[in-house]
Amino acid sequence: EAAKPNNFLRQIIEQDLAQGTYAQRHWGGAPGDGASQQTGPLDPARIRTRFPPEPNGYLHIGHAKSIWLNFSLAKDFGGVCHLRFDDTNPEKEEQEYVDSIRDTVRWLGWDHHFADDPARPGVAQPHEYFASDYFDFMYRAAEYLIESGHAYVDEQTPEQMRATRGDFGTPGTNSPFRSRTPADNLARFRQMRDGQLPDGAAVLRAKIDMASPNINLRDPTLYRIRRATHHNTGDKWCIYPMYTFAHPIEDALEQVTHSICTLEFEDQRPFYDWLMARLCEGGLLVAPPPHQYEFARLNVTHVITSKRKLRQLVEEAHVTGWDDPRMPTLAGLRRRGYTPDALRLFAERSGVTKTGGAWTDYAALDAALRDTLDPVAPRAMAVLEPLKLVITNWAEVFGSDDHLEPCTAPVHPHHPEMGQRQFSMGKEVWIERTDYEEVPPKGFFRLFPGNNVRLKYGYVIQCTGATKDEAGRASQVSAVLIKDTKSGTPGADSVKVKGVITWVGAADGLSATVHLYDRLFTEEQPDAGGRDFLTVLNPNSLNTVQAIVEPSLAAAQPEDRFQFERHGYFVADRREHQAGDKLVFNRIAGLKDSWGK
Ligand code: ATP
Ligand code: MG
Ligand code: MG
Repeated sequence: EAAKPNNFLRQIIEQDLAQGTYAQRHWGGAPGDGASQQTGPLDPARIRTRFPPEPNGYLHIGHAKSIWLNFSLAKDFGGVCHLRFDDTNPEKEEQEYVDSIRDTVRWLGWDHHFADDPARPGVAQPHEYFASDYFDFMYRAAEYLIESGHAYVDEQTPEQMRATRGDFGTPGTNSPFRSRTPADNLARFRQMRDGQLPDGAAVLRAKIDMASPNINLRDPTLYRIRRATHHNTGDKWCIYPMYTFAHPIEDALEQVTHSICTLEFEDQRPFYDWLMARLCEGGLLVAPPPHQYEFARLNVTHVITSKRKLRQLVEEAHVTGWDDPRMPTLAGLRRRGYTPDALRLFAERSGVTKTGGAWTDYAALDAALRDTLDPVAPRAMAVLEPLKLVITNWAEVFGSDDHLEPCTAPVHPHHPEMGQRQFSMGKEVWIERTDYEEVPPKGFFRLFPGNNVRLKYGYVIQCTGATKDEAGRASQVSAVLIKDTKSGTPGADSVKVKGVITWVGAADGLSATVHLYDRLFTEEQPDAGGRDFLTVLNPNSLNTVQAIVEPSLAAAQPEDRFQFERHGYFVADRREHQAGDKLVFNRIAGLKDSWGK
């Protein structure tokens, strides 16, 4: 394996391991209510990362980067990466999303690498955690902040709170509730918890600094009242922690060392550190706490990654569902045929940087697909736009119009051990419509009257003409076979040709439905500058054709991938394809980058 590309996160981890930053962290004595993880015996030298999706939608290509980054850092440095469902927002979260996220992470190949976490012996992989399992501890942490004078219950209206927060350059003003005593705050907070206040009547806020230049430090909200049934905790709670309060605690309880997130959270880091410092002071957490690091999110051209907008595409039926092969969801990319290897290579090549704004060309994903699939994908012939070709001297050469001439081709040109494909040539074969021209344009070396071409793995033929339909299009091409020119026989090179075309025998070809996909959006940045992304949907993002494919493809199983010679990479659709029965293939990518040309 090639040396891992260096990046700033790897350097930080190497340094932490060398300096033993986390080696002194001793977890044994920490209070454990709601936080059993914190008391488990751990190898202190290990690093811990986490991938923390909120189960409010399907994972997308941006998440693939975060997944790769967190899991591969843990793997490379002998650590552990947690899959954590960040489920602190009951209204938007659903079991369906938990299931799909779990499936996707497993599909990407990150379930088995981390089965040996000594903190959770015998626990099934992957290392799965739910933020909602820590609600008890979070509540206790909130009471501690109140008791120590670091939090207060604010009963201003949301409008008042917004108005007193100030703005960039303008300090905020203190809430009239800010000077309540800890005892009053504690009593009021418990009333919030016990359901004695209506939704929205009060919030718990950290007491930090209403004049801070960082607006995130102007007494951020820690808890709100929300009567909503939670997918995990049911109706146990009517108050829920805010993300900014919950997330650092989740990291700490799971003994995460390097908490890696995207750059939007950089301004939250001071609060992250503030909260960690307070809870360590109070003995609720053990130092050193986890540290947050930010990297630039992945932006991919021709793709949108906002979950809200993806949901809109699904709900308004612009696509067939979350796993429509045109969707940038990982479920969609999987169905389209992209492989875990290709996604990993794509993420790795896109780099890890501290500054944002760069866009990665979608073509890089196709390049990663080709680079990983070309060495392993079995080959096959398929005719996507079939036109009948009749060899008029067939009986003369072989004694009968019904004769079938067996042909073979390697499954993979560089891997003889992968074996041979068998198919047959007969009097009638299917060719690509685009391989025939009555009047050849300059540089066209395929079929036109009088020209010789080779039917790949078969014989050289000479085109003699074509019949036309009412619209003037070729309806059937005719040719004569040139004897003794079969591929792989001594006479194969006796007739020189400039053109070799792919084909499928009419006798043993199988019909198949083939979905030819293109970009979902015509613009590189579909939602840039507030543009309505629906106005730049590509009307030609799906073209479904009835193709004829070689008989070896009858055995294709769902998700088997192939290179269709001359056409590109295709996958047997994981939902619609049935081996031997109903053949359905999706084009993943062409042989080379030709989009927009
Ligand atoms: P949304 O804001 O649309 O709900 P999200 O990006 O916040 O989605 P989460 O489920 O919270 O989705 O994200 C889980 C993890 O994936 C976070 O750590 C987040 O930083 C990371 N992530 C999300 N999008 C990208 C991206 N485009 N590039 C890299 N990492 C990403
Ligand atoms: Mg989020
Ligand atoms: Mg987000």
